Amino acid sequence: SSLMASEKEAALAAAPSDSPTIFDKIINKEIPATVVYEDDKVLAFRDIAPQAPTHILIIPKNKDGLTGLSKAEERHTEILGRLLYTAKLVAKQEGLEDGFRIVINDGPQGCQSVYHIHVHLLGGRQMNWPPG
Ligand code: IMP
Repeated sequence: SSLMASEKEAALAAAPSDSPTIFDKIINKEIPATVVYEDDKVLAFRDIAPQAPTHILIIPKNKDGLTGLSKAEERHTEILGRLLYTAKLVAKQEGLEDGFRIVINDGPQGCQSVYHIHVHLLGGRQMNWPPG
């Protein structure tokens, strides 16, 4: 993705699929990541291309078909809640008491580039609305 001109190009080039992604390699410690939180169900690590002073990705260790939010089923409600709750814990750990933003990109138009569901936690600067 460093060869891509933009995150949008990466997103448009990424074909939605249920295949293993780079996040599986991070979960399996095959490639390094700066992990800021980990338990039996979720992993949180710093984004390699941060868009804010704090930019952390929170992912389920077991994807269980959850390539993106649009693929969510009733069985995923517990892990979905846990991803958001972990975002809150990590926001506190990062000292984001003035606020933060949670983003879940879904599909090509949502600029999703990795098909393993992930919550972006962004903070440490003033956000704008609407997002790009
Ligand atoms: P998406 O565009 O919502 O799918 O977000 C994918 C995110 O993963 C992007 O913000 C990338 O910068 C990030 N990313 C891709 N590869 C890695 C990596 O190896 N380590 C950490 N973050 C990564």
